[in-house]
Amino acid sequence: MKIFDEIESEVQSYARSFPRVFNRAKMEHLYDEEENEYLDFLAGAGTLNYGHNNPLFKPLLMDYIENDGITHGLDMHTKAKGEFLEAFNEKILKPRDLDYVMQFTGPTGTNAVEAALKLARNIKGRQNIISFTNGFHGVSLGSLAATGNSHHRGAAGVSLGGVSRVPYDGYLGDEIDTTAYLDKVLSDSSSGIDKPAAVIVETVQGEGGINAASFEWLRNLEKVCRKHDVLLIIDDIQAGCGRTGTFFSFEEAGIKPDMVTLSKSLGGYGLPFAVVLFKPELDQWKPGEHNGTFRGNNFAFVTAKAAIDHYWSDDKFSNEIKQKGKYIKSRLEKIVDLYGDGNFTTCGRGMFQGINCVNGEIAGNITRNAFQQGLIIETSGADDQVVKFLCPLVISQDSLKKGIDIVEQAIKEVCAKEDQIPEDSDYFDDAKMAG
Ligand SMILES: *Cc1c(COP(=O)(O)O)cnc(C)c1O
Repeated sequence: MKIFDEIESEVQSYARSFPRVFNRAKMEHLYDEEENEYLDFLAGAGTLNYGHNNPLFKPLLMDYIENDGITHGLDMHTKAKGEFLEAFNEKILKPRDLDYVMQFTGPTGTNAVEAALKLARNIKGRQNIISFTNGFHGVSLGSLAATGNSHHRGAAGVSLGGVSRVPYDGYLGDEIDTTAYLDKVLSDSSSGIDKPAAVIVETVQGEGGINAASFEWLRNLEKVCRKHDVLLIIDDIQAGCGRTGTFFSFEEAGIKPDMVTLSKSLGGYGLPFAVVLFKPELDQWKPGEHNGTFRGNNFAFVTAKAAIDHYWSDDKFSNEIKQKGKYIKSRLEKIVDLYGDGNFTTCGRGMFQGINCVNGEIAGNITRNAFQQGLIIETSGADDQVVKFLCPLVISQDSLKKGIDIVEQAIKEVCAKEDQIPEDSDYFDDAKMAG
């Protein structure tokens, strides 16, 4: 459509990968204006874990609007907010033995990250924050300082300070536990790394290439934080809300972070919604010290509560995600064996997985080919070298199989065309980050 070229900014990104005008969506399917059907393995970059227009939530939202429920209430108490808090406390926090208070921030992920970083700095009276190579935490300036990606950082226009970066798990190879390095520099008053207020980390790096930290590494990271009196913030904006198989992505590691950020799928229906959770003793805000006109989204309270009630009242959904995750893993491993020429690898855990194709051009050719076959799937990583499988968690087994079949076909066709896969991914350095 001409209007998009005419007046929509060049900043568009996903629209370039999927140049259609979409009009309708249901669970794992999207439909364009011509009623062509697409299978959605992007799922709003992890915002649509429960699918598009989930029929379990929709009538509740429609009723709420029909009955003139509060749409905007600043941070005033509303019945919808109270019911969401009740459900979150009873079905998410208590069964996991987690004692957190909740702060409603502005509606996007980066708002939650900014609030967490600001609170941590104020509590500890220290400016520095530790973040990790290939980490992604949002693009407002505070979050961007903690983000690794040079394409995003380059647009800041000012220096991005107050953050020291250390290597993520696996960055220096499987043999090296990078938390030992962190421990060392925090123990050495001349390391040049100022004592931080907090460490911020993703358990699986979504935008950074589906790098999954091991549970042992996460436990060691928690130990280093405790030893040095540094707060541990888990950015669970993409990995949380069930993506890895449990509600919080850190549950299986057995750690208890001091703060947790949630957004993306938290609202359940793709509605903007973000929160920070933190231990009660860290609730040192003064009233109104941090605010935002749109903190707490009442429509999202309704659908977030519905998501918790329907999917997180028992272990059923979690087990289903783990089963599907195993299926995805076994399929991807087979594909990598068959067509990867010894170069491709699988990565991630749960329903947060990818195929690392080593270079961005090949990965891009694969996702473009898949789109021609009716599958919406994106790449991630520093060179866009990872094909990222991020389908709704509620996807049917049939659709899951169909989507992976399409990727398999795409890889087969793309790899048949490649004489060989260059081992040096720098060769494709100019491949630009699409996300
Ligand atoms: C998407 C994302 C963010 C930023 O969320 P926005 O809603 O885009 O501001 C922050 N952290 C992680 C881990 C994310 O995946």
